[in-house]
Amino acid sequence: MIRPMVNRDSAYFWEGTQKGELRVQSCNACGALRHPPGPACPECGGLDRGYVVAAGEGEVFSYVVHRHPPVPGKELPIVIALIDLDEGVRMVGEVHGVQPEEIEIGRRLRVDWHRVDDDLTLPVWRPVEEDS
Ligand SMILES: [Zn+2]
Repeated sequence: MIRPMVNRDSAYFWEGTQKGELRVQSCNACGALRHPPGPACPECGGLDRGYVVAAGEGEVFSYVVHRHPPVPGKELPIVIALIDLDEGVRMVGEVHGVQPEEIEIGRRLRVDWHRVDDDLTLPVWRPVEEDS
């Protein structure tokens, strides 16, 4: 399968997923949140970074259903969504537990964890039941 790139800027994120934490980078100077992570704050230019742990819920901003070409280690189709977290940042993620024709913009999703091996846990998203 394709493994995500872990580098100095994103290591905090992948350390978080291993602990079941969805981490969002924050600026220690002005407090702004950002995702994907980067070296400098887009709001104030600050370089001092931290993170917060997101509650792990959001809603679908947009999505694609990937049917072709084949992806190593994946069963198709895959639903990939851009998710607006309640914290105000946008993340891309795979949606599980939903048929491609059921996904829609605005659908509430909650993060879940897919442990690949000792070194890698991937966030996946599942629909929040409507009446809960
Ligand atoms: Zn800042």
